[in-house]
Amino acid sequence: MDEKYSKVTIEGDKKTEWICGCFQTADNYFKFCNSHNQTLQKAIQAQIDELDMTRVIE
Ligand SMILES: [Zn+2]
Repeated sequence: MDEKYSKVTIEGDKKTEWICGCFQTADNYFKFCNSHNQTLQKAIQAQIDELDMTRVIE
């Protein structure tokens, strides 16, 4: 799914686009700009830690 939207063919599918570069597509896929991507990754990481999920280390 990531593959699909990383291509340059997303234009027509954008539903909402923010001035920073983040956008949401018609099928509710979010693509974040570089600065927000980093922030959101941290947020997601924090959420996972809060959920106390067990990590599997290979
Ligand atoms: Zn953004």
